[in-house]
Amino acid sequence: MIVVNQSATRVRELSHFIDGQHAEGASGQFDDVFDPAQGKISARVPLANAADVATAVAAANAAFPAWSETPPIKRARLMFKFKQLLEEHQDELAELITRDHGKLFSDSKGEVQRGIEVVEFACGIPNLLKTDFSDQISADMDSWNLRQPIGVVAGVTPFNFPAMIPLWMAAMAAACGNTIVLKPSSRTPSASIRLAELFIEAGFPKGVFNVVQGHKEAVDALIEHPDVAAITVVSSTETAEYIYGEGAKRGKRVQALGGAKNHLVVMPDANLDQAVDALINSAYGSAGERCMATSVAVAVGNIADELVERLASRVRSLRIGGGMEPNLDMGPLVTAAHRAKVSGYIDAGVAAGARLVVDGRGYAVPGLDAGFFLGGSLFDHVTPEMSIWREEIFGPVLSVVRVPDLASAIALVNSHELANCVTLFTSDGGAARTFSRKIQVGMVGINVPSPVPVAWHSFGGWKRSLFGDHHQYGQEAVRFLTRYKSVTQRWPDSIA
Ligand code: NAD
Repeated sequence: MIVVNQSATRVRELSHFIDGQHAEGASGQFDDVFDPAQGKISARVPLANAADVATAVAAANAAFPAWSETPPIKRARLMFKFKQLLEEHQDELAELITRDHGKLFSDSKGEVQRGIEVVEFACGIPNLLKTDFSDQISADMDSWNLRQPIGVVAGVTPFNFPAMIPLWMAAMAAACGNTIVLKPSSRTPSASIRLAELFIEAGFPKGVFNVVQGHKEAVDALIEHPDVAAITVVSSTETAEYIYGEGAKRGKRVQALGGAKNHLVVMPDANLDQAVDALINSAYGSAGERCMATSVAVAVGNIADELVERLASRVRSLRIGGGMEPNLDMGPLVTAAHRAKVSGYIDAGVAAGARLVVDGRGYAVPGLDAGFFLGGSLFDHVTPEMSIWREEIFGPVLSVVRVPDLASAIALVNSHELANCVTLFTSDGGAARTFSRKIQVGMVGINVPSPVPVAWHSFGGWKRSLFGDHHQYGQEAVRFLTRYKSVTQRWPDSIA
């Protein structure tokens, strides 16, 4: 539905999606959604209260008995149909993402593709749920395992991947026989509603996938609801730690992926062309608003001056504009508040004594004066005491730290409390092996920036980048989303 708001700009009116249909919700509260390139309100999203959450959980709970008993092969067939629909609607979903988030249309298409890959993996659920069987563990006795669905799973997702992360969570949870209540970011809520419609179009029963929009009140209601068995969260470290603590306290399973501060280490023997390309794409792609973005380049030995010089010229020539335009390197930041926060970090880096080689503050795109744009920024001579090294910035800001050798690079990375991903560029196999064994980080790339595992491996960091035991998707997700049961059975001849 299209409505007209006070400023006479046409805005979309968004909804929740509960029990197979759009729902307005009872709270009467709304939030504005912005088009970051235009800097204007583009939609209005309802904010769920506890009553709205209770309605969604009741729908998911009601759908659970039949869905959990549905044979995995039938669940897989619906998942195949869902995958086909996602492919057919990939451009449409990508446009919704770009309009809410600001990232380039090509990036948004890539995001949908990474989500589809997990749906594709979930199509193999009959095989993934296969378990072990031991014949004749004693006279007339066998033992085997079951992996059974856990119930209603709540998903809480961040603004920066409005389709991919909901798809990671929902595809695996539904394939395992669970039902879902998703609470997407209120800054980028549009794609999740379209996903819910496609779930229904694919033939999933009503109530298997529900969406409640909202803020903390909705998340707290999910945490406190006795019928929510598990919560899977992707968020900032502060939010992840909070939800993990509150959920675990109530006996729920929680998997909470938090923030990141990803390093890319460049050895003196690295292919510098490839390392510079990798740094530019990984640090500035999607305006640095990716949990796998590189935000620190660690220059080892005498490579630092040339690395900084080459990076600087590339950062100065980044092509920035509205996400639906072709041939650009990055779009705007998600909100004006987030741009102000990132600018604040640039101010702090200068105040702390880092050398600001390229300053992205005050960047404007002609014709899009109100857009939330920020140019690429590059710092050199950053040290571990500075907030621009310690804290996640989540914007187009790259810091160069200079170290003398590989051991110092490993020590620097390992001293950080965030440990999502890391990369080493080198042509030395021994250095690569030492690095991948000694580094205390969840996802490691060797000559590969932003090493996102493919769908049949699993995604997640270490330390304060992940609270809980299991990583997302892959076989780890099957473990998180099912309960393990061991059956020991005896059929002595006497009974027969
Ligand atoms: P955020 O923590 O502000 O919000 C994430 C979700 O949590 C949203 O749905 C939000 O409504 C909810 N939320 C926020 N504050 C809450 C509170 N106090 N109580 C309960 N719920 C709350 O994060 P964001 O700004 O939307 O996303 C960016 C962050 O997510 C970055 O820190 C980024 O590194 C992280 N992230 C991590 C991964 C990963 O895989 N580790 C992936 C993507 C994003």
